[in-house]
Order: sequence, then structure tokens, then C-alpha cells
Amino acid sequence: MENMEKNLSYILHHLNEDALPHGAVSPPIYQTSIFCFPSYEEFRDAINDEVHHSLYTRGNNPTIQLAEEKLAALEGGERSKLVSSGVSAISHAIMAFVKSGDHVVCVEDSYSWTKVLLEKYLTRFGVEVTFVEGTDSDAVFAAVRPATRVIYLESPTTFTFKLQDLPAIAAFARQKGIKTITDNTWATPIFCNPIIFGIDLVVHSGSKYFGGSSDIIAGVIVGSAADIDLIQKQEFLQLGTVPDPMMAWLLMRGLRTLHIRMKAHYASSLAAAAYLEKHPKIESVLYPMLPSYQQLDLARKLFSGGSGLFSFKLKVNKLESVIKFTNALRLFKRAVSWGGYESLVFPAAVKYLKEADVPPDRLGLIRIHVGLEEPADLIADLEQALAGI
Ligand SMILES: *Cc1c(COP(=O)(O)O)cnc(C)c1O
Repeated sequence: MENMEKNLSYILHHLNEDALPHGAVSPPIYQTSIFCFPSYEEFRDAINDEVHHSLYTRGNNPTIQLAEEKLAALEGGERSKLVSSGVSAISHAIMAFVKSGDHVVCVEDSYSWTKVLLEKYLTRFGVEVTFVEGTDSDAVFAAVRPATRVIYLESPTTFTFKLQDLPAIAAFARQKGIKTITDNTWATPIFCNPIIFGIDLVVHSGSKYFGGSSDIIAGVIVGSAADIDLIQKQEFLQLGTVPDPMMAWLLMRGLRTLHIRMKAHYASSLAAAAYLEKHPKIESVLYPMLPSYQQLDLARKLFSGGSGLFSFKLKVNKLESVIKFTNALRLFKRAVSWGGYESLVFPAAVKYLKEADVPPDRLGLIRIHVGLEEPADLIADLEQALAGI
């Protein structure tokens, strides 16, 4: 991490930007679908190696490429590919390494669309999946079969904030020639670099902290040059999950302030989590960097800080109390997603139309995103909403 800190300012503000046209401080947006060549020979070279040339924006574009160079450097990978959403990053990373008859081990409580991809979509093509409780590395190892090609991780898991021992699982998988992929959206490269732990491919939703303003949808895959080249040639060019130059530019604009924002999200979240933990109407708080967190040692091994997203459990037994609490919040807006400047609330129960369908362990489960507002104001907002139930 120390090295990373040293390079951060360089990566975010200088990397490959020394020769921008006219001395522009902000990189140009190459809003073009095609690139023209001065000669037959140059045209021939580009069309025969689309991965390394700007030929057509479905394959490559200089604005997109600059964003990719920064993202690869941030994660400590050789190459990265920017794609149109986090879900396409996840789909591409998994699909590139499986075929009919293969098997995937995936952590339980992974992002909802990751689950759908493995459980419903890829099974149509003869790819099998086993979901495992990822807090137990032995359970992950035990689920591996001779046909296992990919171990898919997400640390922490969505809504439940459970961690997996990335270094241990990566070492095990490497020995067996199994690809490891992890979703690092929560921690961002500011607080965690899974490649250092031996993970092969890191995926991100760029719609969260990279953009940082809840105004773009983006996805990123980072890994070795060989793996990213393969994904670009197979899934990316074929399925056409193209990022557009404007999105890449907005994402880079977000990256300029990523380190500053993450420090603020971390400090405010620690304060909010510590406040909630002491509140008599709260049963428990699930924030990996909180001293009372169940896997604190592992959290400290994996992360040098935490982001603004965490869950807590209200001591309630009726949906009515959850509804009342959610509606009483003023600064926390009711919405999906996270990673912008604004604070958000997402009660787990909102996914169900009828109270009877809500699983009992999800009834009081509330996920919040602690944004960049003043932490004292956010805590006051939580306090007044809790007082009403
Ligand atoms: C939002 C999210 C995704 C999906 O990203 P999109 O950009 O919405 O497609 C994947 N993983 C995690 C952990 C997320 O929070």
C-alpha cells in the first residue's frame, strides 16, 4: 500500500497526460466511431491487431484507453478493459474462462446479477455452479471439482458484508490452475488491491465510486495483459458492451478526487457505524472496519480503509417500523446503488411486495451509503428517524 500511496497522485493526475493537445489539462473526448489511416499499410496493421489500435470505437478509443491505463495502474494490473457496466465486467470475466461442462465456485450473497448469471444464464450453456459460504476457506476448497475453472469472490458480500480470505483462496486456486476473480467495488483500489494477494482478475462497477456522482454506468476488468486481451477479443468485441468516450471522460473526472472522497467516506462511516452500534434500537452493525466486526483481523489484512457502504439490523418485528424509519430519513435518499456524493438508504425488505414474503433475517436489515455530507448532520438524521420507531 505504501508504494500505491506514493504513486497515487501520479496515476490520478499525470499518467499518460504529459502530451495532451494544446496543453489541455483535461483530456480530449474523442467522440468518433472510426479512425482513418494515412496509408494502406497502416490500415492493414490496425485491422489485424484491433486490440492494440484505434480502428473502430467498439474495439478501442483513445479517451477510453487513457481511462483504462489509469485503472490498470490503480489496481496494479498489467491491463484493464472499460466496459459499459459492472454487470458486463462480471459477465465477461467469468464467461471468458468457462465452456460447456465446466464448473464455477461462487461466494454466497454475491451481487444479485452475478447470481442470476451463474444460476440461470450460464446453466443454459452447460456451465455448473456451486455457491459457498465464503467466510470459511475450507468450504470454498471443498466445493472445487476437477471441472472447476473459476472461483468467483466478492469481499465484502452484498448486504451481508462477509469477507473471504483472498490470499489463501488465491494461493489454493493458483496451484490448481483455477482462475480467481473478485469484485472489488466496495473497497476500491484506494483501500484494497486484490492482485497483490494473487487474485487473477479484479472487476468493478465504475457506476459507484469511480464516477462518484451517480451519473454514469460503467464497468472495469483488471488483470494480466494476456487475460484482458483474451476478454477483449472474445467477449468484448463480440457482445459489444462498449463504453462511450463521454462516459470514460466522466469516469476519469471522478478518479481525480477518488482518494480524497474515499478518506471522507471512511471517516464518516466509522463515525456513523460507531453511533449506530451504541443505539438501543440497533441489534448489530455490519461494517468491516468497526472494532467489533466479526472478521476484523481479516478486514485489516485486506483493507487499509473502508468505504461508505454498510448494513445494520434494526430491532424490529414489524415491517411497519422499517417503513416508518425509512420514510422519516431526510438526508438519506431512498434508492438503489451507491458510491456517489449523496447518502442513501436501502432496506432489504423493499425487494418484497408482501410482508409475509420477507425472510425474518432480512426484515430489519438496512443498508446505507454514507455520503459526503457533514457526518454530524447524517448522524442527526439517523437519530431523528430512530426516535420515531
Ligand atoms: C452495482 C454493483 C455491481 C453492478 O454494477 P453496474 O455498474 O450497476 O452494472 C456489481 N457489483 C457490485 C458489488 C455492485 O455494487
